[in-house]
Amino acid sequence: MRNTQVFLKDKNIMAKIVNAAKLEKTDVVLEIGSGDGRLTKEIAPHVKTVYAIERDINLLDASKMALDGLTNIIFVHGDALEVDFAPEVNKIISNLPYAISSPITTKIVYFLNKRPDSFAVLMYQKEFGERMIAIPGIRDYSMLSIFTQYTSEIEKVVNVNKKCFRPMPAVDSVVIKLTPKHMDFDDGFLSFCRLIFQHKKKNLYSAIIDSRAKLAISSKEELRKRLLKIEQYELKKKVFFFEVSELISIYNIMLKIGICQR
Ligand code: SAM
Repeated sequence: MRNTQVFLKDKNIMAKIVNAAKLEKTDVVLEIGSGDGRLTKEIAPHVKTVYAIERDINLLDASKMALDGLTNIIFVHGDALEVDFAPEVNKIISNLPYAISSPITTKIVYFLNKRPDSFAVLMYQKEFGERMIAIPGIRDYSMLSIFTQYTSEIEKVVNVNKKCFRPMPAVDSVVIKLTPKHMDFDDGFLSFCRLIFQHKKKNLYSAIIDSRAKLAISSKEELRKRLLKIEQYELKKKVFFFEVSELISIYNIMLKIGICQR
């Protein structure tokens, strides 16, 4: 298989990633996709332990040789989507393999949410990062925006020009800091949003009616009756204009009137 991975060559961007991670001697860091170890080398001297997960055995072997003098690195050969993250990890840093951006973000958020004071500093393809931070009413506002904004505080660390990588990719990147809100996520809320965001350009009323096959009430008539409990102006508003906090309020009403279940 052709290796399409790109490597960060810009030292200034590496320094910005390391600074954003506010590394401390007590930290146990997980680096996803450690590659040839170029970023691992900048992290390891400042922390207690680094778990470096890399799927490509040749790169992992090369990094073991290059980082020979650093004794606090635990090399893990495997797919980051499959391997269990070590429970003592409190920070995750990664120049992510973009092909797994979506599932790995979900895994990271659920993992760190259970660990107080934890966060992640992650490099994404720029378009992906923009969808994470998108605000209501713009095209990029999507289920990805809802998921990240509901579960995490999001901060843009730095935009990264494609010239900072070798080989040079086709697209620019962005480094994002994700701090999970350390709360009990309501998966029912996320499922509800997933349903209505399939109709994100419709108004809330139509989106709910069109999602009825997967709601607790599937009769159109019954739904119509129960939706009278929701304000008219909200029902007329297009789905992708709602902020996360507004969607939570609507979901809570939907629970009360039996249209959704936890
Ligand atoms: N850390 C290096 C850097 O900063 O330049 C390499 C980053 S490169 C964008 C992504 C790395 O992730 C590659 O080394 C690739 O082999 C590895 N990778 C790709 N898919 C992976 C997966 N599912 N699990 C673990 N590593 C993966």
